Amino acid sequence: MKIGIIGHAEDKFTEETKQKAVSLIRKILYDAARPVSAKVDVGVGQLEITKPTKEVILVSGRSPLGGIDVWAEEIALALDIETDIKAPKQNRWNAEYGYRQRNIDIAISSDILHVIVVEEYPPNYNGRRFPMCYHCNKSDHVKSGACWTAKQALALGKQVVWHIIRTNASIEAEQRANEEEFQRRQLEAEDDERKRQKEQEREEEEEEEQRRYEEESHLFLTIILDMKVHTND
Ligand SMILES: [Zn+2]
Repeated sequence: MKIGIIGHAEDKFTEETKQKAVSLIRKILYDAARPVSAKVDVGVGQLEITKPTKEVILVSGRSPLGGIDVWAEEIALALDIETDIKAPKQNRWNAEYGYRQRNIDIAISSDILHVIVVEEYPPNYNGRRFPMCYHCNKSDHVKSGACWTAKQALALGKQVVWHIIRTNASIEAEQRANEEEFQRRQLEAEDDERKRQKEQEREEEEEEEQRRYEEESHLFLTIILDMKVHTND
């Protein structure tokens, strides 16, 4: 199986997001190449053996700006995984084998393509910042040429998996916002319950009043009837 791993160049990462990306690449390649135990028929019965999963080959683009491509290549080397590296021959978009042709080659050559992008630009990023990824039409990750390649792969019917690397600060901020929202809803529910109880008390009071009124009317009627009885005497 040919596994494509592509994503941002190094300048889109901080030390923190780089560590997360590297761990993720290691996990993708390790999980794909990990040997599995299998049973084989040896004539006189079955024998349990350990055999590698389908042959794994890493496909990546060796970006001259480093980042995901280069980290994936280094990790594959360390894990003794074969590589099929699509290094651009010209460092520009339109050329004989520039970025465009190289990206198309990656899309064609990969059976599955992993796109690793970050949620937000690093604070010290000096390049051009886009409000959203215009390849994906999404604002949950930073724009990447890897998404362009992924679209080519999708058009070819390949499986594509996007991985969005988030900072701990961003994850914690979301957790805090979720907790605040939960507390707000709980207070709202408590408030509703109090209102419901008040409404119930009011209804009970009204019923009580109605009952008292009926009792009094009955008493009054009894007095009148009594008076009538006396008058008849
Ligand atoms: Zn994208």
